[in-house]
Amino acid sequence: IYNFCAGPAMLPTAVMRKAQQEFCDYQGLGVSVMELSHRSPEYMAVAEKAEQDLRELMAIPDNYAVLFLHGGARGQFSAIPLNLLGQGKALYLESGQWSVAAATEAEKYGDIERVDLRCESRTLDLSRIPADTSEYAYVHYCPNETVDGVAMFDVPEVAAPLVADLSSCILGRDLDVSQFALLYAGAQKNIGPAGLTLVIVRRDLLGNADSRCPAILDYQLAANHDSMYNTPPTFAWYLAGEVFQWLKHQGGVAAMAEVNRRKADKLYGFIDASDFYRNAVAPSHRSEMNVTFQLHDAQLDKRFLAEAEAAGLKALKGHRMVGGMRASIYNAMPEAGVDALVQFMDHFARTYG
Ligand code: PLP
Repeated sequence: IYNFCAGPAMLPTAVMRKAQQEFCDYQGLGVSVMELSHRSPEYMAVAEKAEQDLRELMAIPDNYAVLFLHGGARGQFSAIPLNLLGQGKALYLESGQWSVAAATEAEKYGDIERVDLRCESRTLDLSRIPADTSEYAYVHYCPNETVDGVAMFDVPEVAAPLVADLSSCILGRDLDVSQFALLYAGAQKNIGPAGLTLVIVRRDLLGNADSRCPAILDYQLAANHDSMYNTPPTFAWYLAGEVFQWLKHQGGVAAMAEVNRRKADKLYGFIDASDFYRNAVAPSHRSEMNVTFQLHDAQLDKRFLAEAEAAGLKALKGHRMVGGMRASIYNAMPEAGVDALVQFMDHFARTYG
């Protein structure tokens, strides 16, 4: 079975097997890791190792705090303005459904301006980003729009502190953390189970939360308590740590990025060469993680999904907002999964084309 779900997404088989082995009896303690106190030395070791491995994988400089939080990426849509906006205003770059949603949530808390980068031709026009952003408390964008299958590979050059929603692309390719003020991601796509949210924030930005900011969204409090101000999502944190170790065994992010590029090229290459399937996104903005595509005849959609499911290819239905199909091919999706999908799509096109 290959699971192409956009999230919660499939996890590496090796990680699932190890977690299964340890499930009831973590390292001979006679209890599950989820039954350990988050303050026990055994759990603290799990938590610290996960942070260290993530720091290594992403080469996170020491002047950044790494926070393991609750509340999903949507929780961060609120936490970011509550921590960073102050009395100022922020700029949101819109490239798809999620960046628009982030802006809409932020508007509850202050002065938010938006620039829509989307063009008719399914490309993004980065020249619409104002040349001078120094008046903004921060600029927010989403490098990988999970629903639309649209990516922005170039980091916007802005003077203001840059904030990025990495929910569906974190650890998928290398990035230079020092270009950002804050990075965040829900874990359930490229990291681990739902329930964990990662925030990587430059330390000089801590301590400015609005007085209305709920304590559990206050970055300074979280950093002061090593993400244990309240009980953290311990099992999700543990499993994320296992994924980080797996990723290191694969050769790290650069090695993963190479495989991801290959997987995406294979799938887009097949779609482009076919007149049965199409992808409308401009090639320079096609997501490597979420490949959206349409059948030439939408009346075949249901049959396509049913036959794919029967062939062991799960969750290919596109998001309800955009329709069509979507294959999410995060780090845990082996190349063989993409091969199986291409083979199925080819067979389906020959049968019904
Ligand atoms: N941002 C992006 C890019 C996403 O793909 C998602 C996905 O579900 C979200 C935000 C919302 O995440 P959550 O459900 O963790 O709040």
